[in-house]
Amino acid sequence: MSKRIKIILVGIAEFATILAMLSASIIFYQGFEAQVYEDLRVMAYLFAELDYTEITEEGENDFMKNKLRISVISKEGSVIYDNQMPIEEMNNHKNREEIREAKEKGEGKAARKSETLGSRTYYYAIQMKDGDIVRVAKKTSTFGMVFYQYCPFLIIILLGLVFICLILGHYFTKKLVEPIEHLANHLEEEQKGIYPELIPFVTRIKAQHEDIIKSARMRQDFTANVSHELKTPLTSISGYSELIESGMVSSEDTQRFAKEIHKNSSRLLTLINDIIRLSELDATEDNCTLEKVNLYEVTRSCVEMLQLNAKKHNVTLTFWGEHCEVMASKEMIEELVYNLCDNAIRYNKIDGDVHVAVKNMVDHVLLSVSDTGIGISENQKERIFERFYRVDKSRSKSTGGTGLGLAIVKHIVSQVHANIKLESELGKGTKIEVTFLL
Ligand code: ADP
Repeated sequence: MSKRIKIILVGIAEFATILAMLSASIIFYQGFEAQVYEDLRVMAYLFAELDYTEITEEGENDFMKNKLRISVISKEGSVIYDNQMPIEEMNNHKNREEIREAKEKGEGKAARKSETLGSRTYYYAIQMKDGDIVRVAKKTSTFGMVFYQYCPFLIIILLGLVFICLILGHYFTKKLVEPIEHLANHLEEEQKGIYPELIPFVTRIKAQHEDIIKSARMRQDFTANVSHELKTPLTSISGYSELIESGMVSSEDTQRFAKEIHKNSSRLLTLINDIIRLSELDATEDNCTLEKVNLYEVTRSCVEMLQLNAKKHNVTLTFWGEHCEVMASKEMIEELVYNLCDNAIRYNKIDGDVHVAVKNMVDHVLLSVSDTGIGISENQKERIFERFYRVDKSRSKSTGGTGLGLAIVKHIVSQVHANIKLESELGKGTKIEVTFLL
């Protein structure tokens, strides 16, 4: 990047220098031309005061020294005096531009170029009182010639400027890139004196950086939690099976231990299923295909399936709904409804109630699961959606919980572009509402 900036800076500076040199040369050449005409005009008026027939050789030499050509032209156009050429060889001048103009306006000027000699002759003519015309002429180099003559100097100046531009370009590029380099190396620090144009870029990078750190930390915590969660049932299974293997356990205890092994392996299986489900949801994040799902039908059959479970917990599970359709995946909706209802039953009180409802609202479809259970305290409300977070670990475990149910729910809600709202009062109950935007 700095190489490109340097090239652009030097390129612009060089272009500007060449342009400035060219335009300055043109302006100076125009000034020079005006000065030549002015000098010729003064000379013409001075000569008009003289009597050309009386000009001495010395006077003529002075004109020659100053590279001046003086001519006197009659009213008819014939040359009657010329200090450089024999007048008999000269043709009629009445059609020359400066002569015609002098006859019309009293003064006339013209410049003619000789491409072969690379010179330009300037003429200034004035009409005297007797009608004759005095013309003074001077030869100078053309603009091209002047430019060609000074070219070596111009090239030296240009090279000097290139050198200065390179040094300045290097310095300014360094100055320009310095804050960006500093920014790249100290992204986590508070940025002072940063280019305003870079603020949105920095904010975005910082947010992404924080997200990456956060998700890395989450992954680390998750791995640690998974290991811990797997270890507990496996230790029990290993312990009980070892005891059975030793053959020193009575037949009553063998049955009890086998029951424990069965319970722990089921728990292990549920846990592994939940972990697999979460990693599947992680993998399909933002690119799962959504289809029309009959929310009423899915919820109704889920509630029906959980009736037995509710009975076991002495909980009354009711459902009310109307025909609703949402854009989601059927499997995800089943999981979502199942997890919410299952929690509402498991964290309920004896003879408690769970009510599930689906309804069409103005601009969304609502799924609500409310219970008259133990409730959640204010400071735990946010945390229960974290992976492996449980308010009461032993209650969760004893009812077959893994601590991953609501993490899966949160994931599903975000994938189907829905929102989740939790209202709860400790000891009174909980209401979870999922709104599917239409
Ligand atoms: P678990 O498998 O432990 O139920 P979840 O992720 O489903 O894990 O829920 C996390 C925690 O949130 C639970 O352990 C429980 O403490 C709390 N919780 C979830 N749903 C309810 C509810 N309806 N009433 C009270 N507490 C709840």
